[in-house]
Amino acid sequence: MEQKLKGLVLKNIPTGDNKTLVTVLDGKIGKTLITCHGARKLTSRNMPATQPFCLCEFIVSEKNGRFTLKESHLLESFFELRCDLYASALGAYILETGNACAKENENEEALLSLMLNSLYALCKKDLEKPLVKTVYELRLLLELGCEPNVEQCTCCGKALPEAAFYAPSEGGGVCPACKNGGEAQGPFFPLDPACRQALNYILLCAPKKIFHFKLSEKGLSALSKISEESLLYTLERSFESLKFYKELQNIDE
Ligand SMILES: [Zn+2]
Repeated sequence: MEQKLKGLVLKNIPTGDNKTLVTVLDGKIGKTLITCHGARKLTSRNMPATQPFCLCEFIVSEKNGRFTLKESHLLESFFELRCDLYASALGAYILETGNACAKENENEEALLSLMLNSLYALCKKDLEKPLVKTVYELRLLLELGCEPNVEQCTCCGKALPEAAFYAPSEGGGVCPACKNGGEAQGPFFPLDPACRQALNYILLCAPKKIFHFKLSEKGLSALSKISEESLLYTLERSFESLKFYKELQNIDE
């Protein structure tokens, strides 16, 4: 039976006999595998359909729940990502983390839309790359239902004072008393009012407005630690693409 899918290529694995197994995130059916025959040849019309970052329409034949590619149409290639090393490293991080979170046989339109919005944002010259990364991480946590709570202390329930902390293992803000008294488990990261305000904006705004805010360099640096540590804590793993991004930063410093 023939079927039409529309999705973002997350990764490809070449197998023997000139076949490629492509992992695609389709909004309606979630993460799925498509087998592509002969698409590795440079002359193949279906070459883009196997390349990470490509958003394509796929005409597939389905047999016993397995998809085989018949035809593909490239909708967006995010070509600009390949021209900037930081953007390409963070783009790979978005694909790797999205792949880790995406489910099969489930509607993943919100996740796909977040990933696409973030990839478009990485291609824009006027947006700082660390800001795109931080916003993506926080909205991904929201999609997973694990967004940080920064209204009350997650240990004692009292309203957070101006000088508060954030503890990924507690899933939110912690007051100085609970931090110092040993109620809360570290590590702790500073959480000032500007950081809390930005965090609340990112979590509560409409999907199309996630990058429409300003934060000082210091504030972004603090918020980026919170978002990254929370995501890694929630997913209980590290990512090769993140290691690569950090290596790039170290070379630049
Ligand atoms: Zn407390």
